Amino acid sequence: MYFLTNLAMEIIDWLKDVKIFNGKEMAAMDKNKLVHFTKKLLTEYERVQKELGYLQTDIAELEGTSLVTEYEEKSSIEEQKDYILNFLTHDAAELKEIQLALQKTLDGTYGICERCGQTIEEDRLEAVPTGRYCKKCEEELEKEQR
Ligand SMILES: [Zn+2]
Repeated sequence: MYFLTNLAMEIIDWLKDVKIFNGKEMAAMDKNKLVHFTKKLLTEYERVQKELGYLQTDIAELEGTSLVTEYEEKSSIEEQKDYILNFLTHDAAELKEIQLALQKTLDGTYGICERCGQTIEEDRLEAVPTGRYCKKCEEELEKEQR
């Protein structure tokens, strides 16, 4: 929470005075968009962080029960634990992505494709605010991974 509050304050403060973004002069509408995506990222950050908290509680509870249950039940508890741990890993990675995106907002590189340097489509950022690549590059990267 410490990280989130401070970064949010920093970004909102910075946005008040920012005139140049991504090397271009920023129009008022662009500023509104940037604020919009920053808020989206912060909301997402909060949501994932809350979820992480719940998952950690679940794990702690499961660990508590595994001490008192019979051997046969332990394997099912282990399965549940694995399942939750998968979620935990996923959420932790997502938090990192959001932090990176927020950092980009401060660096003035948010919304720029990391691969080709073009502007990332707005509807793509709307769907995935942490998106690193434009649609074309994303498609090409997916093909390469196959
Ligand atoms: Zn691209």
